[in-house]
Amino acid sequence: MTNHIGHWIGGASFVGSSDRTSPVHNPATGELTGLVNLASLEAIDDAVQCASIAARQWGRSPLSRRAAVLFSFRELLQSRSAELAAIVTAEHGKVLSDAAGEVARGLENVEFATGVPQLMKGGFSEQVSTGVDVFSIRQPLGVVAGITPFNFPVMVPLWMCANAIACGNSFILKPSEKDPSASLFLAQLWKDAGLPEGIFTVLQGDKVAVDALISHPKIAALSFVGSTPVAKYIYETGTAAGKRIQALGGAKNHMIVLPDADVDMAADAAVSAGYGAAGERCMAISVVVTVGDIADRLVEAIALRIPRLTIGDGAVATTEMGPLITAQHRDRVADYIEAGAEAGATVVVDGRKTDVPAEGFFLGATLLDSVGTDMSVYREEIFGPVLSVVRCETFDEAICLINSNQFANGAAIFTRDGGAARKFHTEVEVGMIGINVPIPVPVAYYSFGGWKASLFGDSHMYGPEGINFYTRGKVVTSRWPDPATSKIDLGFPQTR
Ligand code: NAD
Repeated sequence: MTNHIGHWIGGASFVGSSDRTSPVHNPATGELTGLVNLASLEAIDDAVQCASIAARQWGRSPLSRRAAVLFSFRELLQSRSAELAAIVTAEHGKVLSDAAGEVARGLENVEFATGVPQLMKGGFSEQVSTGVDVFSIRQPLGVVAGITPFNFPVMVPLWMCANAIACGNSFILKPSEKDPSASLFLAQLWKDAGLPEGIFTVLQGDKVAVDALISHPKIAALSFVGSTPVAKYIYETGTAAGKRIQALGGAKNHMIVLPDADVDMAADAAVSAGYGAAGERCMAISVVVTVGDIADRLVEAIALRIPRLTIGDGAVATTEMGPLITAQHRDRVADYIEAGAEAGATVVVDGRKTDVPAEGFFLGATLLDSVGTDMSVYREEIFGPVLSVVRCETFDEAICLINSNQFANGAAIFTRDGGAARKFHTEVEVGMIGINVPIPVPVAYYSFGGWKASLFGDSHMYGPEGINFYTRGKVVTSRWPDPATSKIDLGFPQTR
């Protein structure tokens, strides 16, 4: 019997219509494991109406109550994290330890959001004029939606929903149709944590659902994480519809290695940040930029490490790199390798020739050397296990390379020189910088976001910017006469 994956509306699962479906696979075996039902326009409208009614009460509920639900959710998430990680591995393919890491990084955002009584505190200015005080408050927006990518089916929804819900909004999640099941597990945990019905909703769907959410008059704000063309589209159509939008796009992250760097440390970092999760991370290292004479030593050190990677089913504890998300995506990544070779890059290790399991959507790790900036492997986001090495003569040339790229999510440097590291973080035009750290995803009490084609809108995700995004400010100016001098009869004696 076909496994139909449905939605979560009004605090309960809702299978919905199966007129339109999308296949869900186990990427490690290639097996079709389910069909996700894509939400009808009617179901979407019902869900938004339900979320809108629920938001009115939730937004007025005491901060202590909201924090208590967040604390319970945090405990449940922690205690059920292994089950959740297994769901991620079964539909995404990443190795179990990586899936567990994803849950842990998502959990950080829940922990941050438990501080909502402090985070939503406003300001107060007493006696700005005689008898006049001014104070500021932040209030929830109402119904907000999140549209998320396939590569972090737990962490990215938690980047959004923890803060959105803590701030008093109802949150509608439209997860990726490629790995939809983790979202329903999260929904059940929210319910078990005591979240009222209608505050967390899951609508499975594709572009049809996204467009319906963008145009729905009762949705006040929309958070998006995914590829750049879709991020741009969502930002443009969403803002035209009068909504608050934050849209995080694709990436092409560079890692500069200076001649004084520890070669082994840099090679280990390049391998884990380039091939971890089969390169399907928005903060994955895609380009290694060597400066000066370290190039040959570093290329050799990376090439030595690649054959030692254990590639296979992510559910097996010893596996270090799993498959790609779909057969089509694997073939697309393989086409980039061919294009790089044809354009003149040196194929040091060719992942297409690696011995990988025949079933499933596997591709070995690839290392391309002497990559030119005009090649498609350099210019475009590959989102697979391919590392390109670009050789530069000087540090300035390497910085200029990063600053000329259309993407600006993250960048890293490996060096022993503090002055060089300082120049790097000052001059490089990207949103997140790593110094001897290849994947500098900020902890939950900072915010996450790139620049340029990696972010549309001006609000980064989660952390303090997340609280601002999901609330709006109000300033109150109030005048109260001093009871002692007031001519109004207050009905009781006054003392000074
Ligand atoms: P995607 O853009 O294809 O899909 C993301 C979401 O948008 C999904 O929910 C999908 O259903 C929906 N969608 C797809 N096409 C659409 C369309 N034409 N109109 C409206 N909605 C549409 O991205 P993906 O393949 O799921 O994820 C990989 C991409 O996400 C990569 O580009 C990666 O860099 C990016 N990403 C970025 C970040 C970040 O923080 N900047 C984080 C994770 C992933």
